[in-house]
Amino acid sequence: PLEERVAALEDRQKKHPKVKYLAEKDRKRILITGGAGFVGCHLVNALMLEGHEVTVVDNFFTGRKSNVEQWIGHDNFELINHDVVEPLYIEVDQIYHLASPASPPHYMYNPIKTIKTNTIGTLNMLGLAKRVRATLLLASTSEVYGDPEVHPQPETYWGHVNPIGPRACYDEGKRVAETMCYAYQKQEKVNIRVARIFNTYGPRMHMNDGRVVSNFILQALQGQPLTIYGTGSQTRSFQYVTDLVDGLIRLMNSNVSLPVNLGNPDERSIFEFAERIIKLTGSNSEIINQPAVQDDPQKRKPVITRAMDNFGWMPVVPLEEGLIKTVEYFRDELKKSKTSNKK
Ligand code: NAD
Ligand code: UDP
Ligand code: UDP
Repeated sequence: PLEERVAALEDRQKKHPKVKYLAEKDRKRILITGGAGFVGCHLVNALMLEGHEVTVVDNFFTGRKSNVEQWIGHDNFELINHDVVEPLYIEVDQIYHLASPASPPHYMYNPIKTIKTNTIGTLNMLGLAKRVRATLLLASTSEVYGDPEVHPQPETYWGHVNPIGPRACYDEGKRVAETMCYAYQKQEKVNIRVARIFNTYGPRMHMNDGRVVSNFILQALQGQPLTIYGTGSQTRSFQYVTDLVDGLIRLMNSNVSLPVNLGNPDERSIFEFAERIIKLTGSNSEIINQPAVQDDPQKRKPVITRAMDNFGWMPVVPLEEGLIKTVEYFRDELKKSKTSNKK
């Protein structure tokens, strides 16, 4: 009955006031693999607020239920505990395929599993996309360029990757994942999108993620030395997570099936980055040098003209502003962990 439906709708809007109402014909069924992870949960928020039906598939290797907790119980939301290495049969219109550990300590922890996730996992999601005629967006990475000999990196660069080094499980895993996407596009006419994501940071990064942003902020907040691996002259270009999410959604809904770099071209040395975080947190931590890690890319900066020209995307959050929000998040997390330790 109409009255009950109106009451249910009102109830739902009370719980999640910002969720747009979309008519059924405009509402998409969207699968996000790895949706309980750092990038995934921000993407979930954006797509839920737009009014779509979102299904998250995650095995909780590095993701957490708490990242998507606010949506549990919402009619448009579903959370499935599932490993993408196993086949998955559901009906969807779009697939954002993010499932894969992303931080070097996480992906090196079990290299075989990382390879299986990126190869067999991607194959399964392409098989699913083929069966239900969904568009699949692969979360690829700037790591496909390896330790680049071309700087900055355009999408046309083929890369410089050590196929048997410690990072290979991830780099080569993503490279073959891209290859599989183009094979399914050519042979099976699957609609694919490939985002080459550059270093991304923001709230809800895992505390023990091991990546440079979380390491430096936590070290600075706890008065411990900031650990630079090697000289600190290596560079990265950091993008704030909401910029990435905006790029992913624009790319998915564009008609660009070539790979597209999504990153912020604001390049910094790791040493400069450490100094900036000490200043921002008002910490009196010192900076120390530790041995360099093997095959560490020495420089990295995206060329983003393809995204700009094709779907008008560019990052808008300046480093300082994004870092302030991230520091705030980690401060709160530290407070929470202290109070729960006391209990
Ligand atoms: P994350 O580790 O926070 O999230 C990854 C998610 O995938 C987690 O929720 C994890 O539990 C899930 N997962 C891992 N293996 C799985 C499996 N076999 N089956 C189901 N779920 C699985 O990492 P993130 O930073 O959110 O990265 C998301 C995606 O973006 C990854 O594919 C990553 O390679 C890519 N990416 C991220 C960055 C970055 O700087 N954050 C840069 C380049 C590429
Ligand atoms: N697959 C899946 N969900 C589907 C369809 C396929 O997980 O809805 C898996 C399937 O198990 C297979 C892979 O995707 O291992 C590739 O599927 P495809 O149809 O291309 O290959 P085939 O089944 O013919 O080997
Ligand atoms: N790094 C560092 N100290 C840390 C963590 C990382 O100096 O505590 C360096 C690392 O060697 C690399 C850069 O910071 O040169 C970025 O590392 P991260 O693991 O964040 O990402 P990726 O290497 O995948 O770009």
